[in-house]
Amino acid sequence: MYPYYNMNIKNCQQKKEKILKDFNKSGKYVNWREKKMSSLRLADSYKQISKAISEEYKQRGVHVRHKKVTRRVLDRNMNIINEITTLESAGLYDLNGRRVVNYEKRAENIRFCGSMLDFVKVDDKLKLIKANFCKVPLCPMCQWRKSMRIFFEVSKIMSVIEKKYNYIPVFLTLTVRNCSAENLGDILDDMFSGWHELMRSGTLNPKVNKEKKHIVQGWFRALEITYNDKTNEFHPHFHVIMLVEKNYFKSSDYLKTEEWVQLWRKSAKLDYDPVCDIRRTRNIKGKRKEVAEVAKYTYKDAEILNKKLSDEKKTEVIKYLSGALHQRRLYAYGGVMKDIAAELKIKDIDKADLVNVNDEKIDSSLATMILRYRWNMGISNYVLVEEKNILE
Ligand SMILES: [Zn+2]
Repeated sequence: MYPYYNMNIKNCQQKKEKILKDFNKSGKYVNWREKKMSSLRLADSYKQISKAISEEYKQRGVHVRHKKVTRRVLDRNMNIINEITTLESAGLYDLNGRRVVNYEKRAENIRFCGSMLDFVKVDDKLKLIKANFCKVPLCPMCQWRKSMRIFFEVSKIMSVIEKKYNYIPVFLTLTVRNCSAENLGDILDDMFSGWHELMRSGTLNPKVNKEKKHIVQGWFRALEITYNDKTNEFHPHFHVIMLVEKNYFKSSDYLKTEEWVQLWRKSAKLDYDPVCDIRRTRNIKGKRKEVAEVAKYTYKDAEILNKKLSDEKKTEVIKYLSGALHQRRLYAYGGVMKDIAAELKIKDIDKADLVNVNDEKIDSSLATMILRYRWNMGISNYVLVEEKNILE
């Protein structure tokens, strides 16, 4: 009686079957849709910011800088037949020569992040082989991929360290007082120069000051910024993983929390005692995993994105956060961890491979199909658009 109604049900049924269902190794559902939806929300915020900031940018004389790019045109035998030089955008700059965030471009890039996902099917499990990730800072889709990448990288570094040395990891948190959105940029400047000072002073950098007593043999440092919507304040802090000699806790080198407080206070030139926290790993056996977990944790979604704020407020806070984070090294390795990262050819996270987050090789003899999923705006989910049988 209602043929269209029935047809719709059939259509829905077919669509349901075609919706992406990805399960990880331990059988846990991988929620691609949720990440994509968060990224789309951030793209909306960036779009809002680009509109709101256009007048300010105009007044500050923000303009596009260009760079010359020469590309070679090759024939089939790879001989150069022509060279074409074009002018390409090298970013937005204000009149003082300071690079500023191109919110419009960010909005655009985030909007398309992860819209194309190609998987290979191995043993009924999906393995991502191709995707378009935007790598824009704060993008929830990319943060998630980066967190897995960091977990893998730090595990790899730690396994080399465990074989070569007898170091033990210590977790240190260095904080400053909460600050307003407007002050965040300046506070971060102080924190980063405080960090460099801490290294220069010899405590954290064995290489610079060999004659000085060095305690920390290697480190990983990540910046985390949390946001309190009740007070409208940011709380920036460094998470540091330090590697120390096994006898550190019993040696005269041992620094009490209070001593770290004073060191950090002096380095960051603070006029108050900052809160610092230092702790050991919970268990010695699982320390590699625990270290990797701590490193990974620093790459979770920016808290602000999950807060229930008015669109206006959220846009404003994201604007300050993005501006303050622009062109900062959010995480870094030092000492022996840096050396091993270089040996293992670990790239900067901004250049890291976010498709293969763990270098897992696919046994191609077991791969049966390539499945191509695309983000479908209409139903807000990933839908299978192409299936290719490899064995054919
Ligand atoms: Zn992204």
